Amino acid sequence: MDLSANLHAVRQRLEAACDRAGREPASVTLLAVTKGQPPDVVSAAADLGLTLFGENRVQEARAKIQLCPSRARWHLIGHLQSNKCRDAVQLFEMVQSVDSLGLAQELDKWAGKAAKRLPVLLEINVAGEASKFGYRPEAFLAELAQLNALPRLEVHGLMTLAPWTPEPEKVRPVFRRLRELKERCEQQLGGPLPHLSMGMTGDFEVAIEEGATLIRIGTALFGPRSGPRQFNLQPA
Ligand SMILES: *Cc1c(COP(=O)(O)O)cnc(C)c1O
Repeated sequence: MDLSANLHAVRQRLEAACDRAGREPASVTLLAVTKGQPPDVVSAAADLGLTLFGENRVQEARAKIQLCPSRARWHLIGHLQSNKCRDAVQLFEMVQSVDSLGLAQELDKWAGKAAKRLPVLLEINVAGEASKFGYRPEAFLAELAQLNALPRLEVHGLMTLAPWTPEPEKVRPVFRRLRELKERCEQQLGGPLPHLSMGMTGDFEVAIEEGATLIRIGTALFGPRSGPRQFNLQPA
């Protein structure tokens, strides 16, 4: 694995997608997904200038983060169980996978105890896949006011995982729908939300064309992971 070459290739693809969409490359943040990768890979990525990393399981992150350079910043991108909220608040700068009011309340409680504010994204299951976590679009709009009222949580935007397909063009409507949902949130809340977290190795260019501000890239940087492809089916 040549991380430096992979990073260069991802940045070039990112810039080309921005070009097509008439966007500034600086408007898209690259989050390196390090699940299944050891701490020395994180260190190598940090040495190449990557600063933002994503993990999808609290347990793995808890073991790993303490062995990684302290300049690395971490987002939780996988399903979170209520009994792991305390650790999540300590380990992560942002939780991208808030998918229920109960979970949000639990995070708010632990953020309060830690005297912190916690930026979060709401994970939306746009395509309604039974195998995936995330709010159904109607459900989160109904809870938005309550989510936004939690004193320690800051709703910064939306996140989604598109259905897997070998043809990324097929998931363009999913990304477009997420952007429209963010606009509806902004109307409801009466202010802008900075983030749309969407796009992975197979579909990030289409996501950028549809307005992604955070792309979550694992395989294109670090090569294939061992283990099942449907990582999101594993409990956190
Ligand atoms: C693993 C994972 C990614 C990265 O997937 P790749 O296809 O390897 O780029 C992105 N988002 C989430 C939520 C993930 O679990």
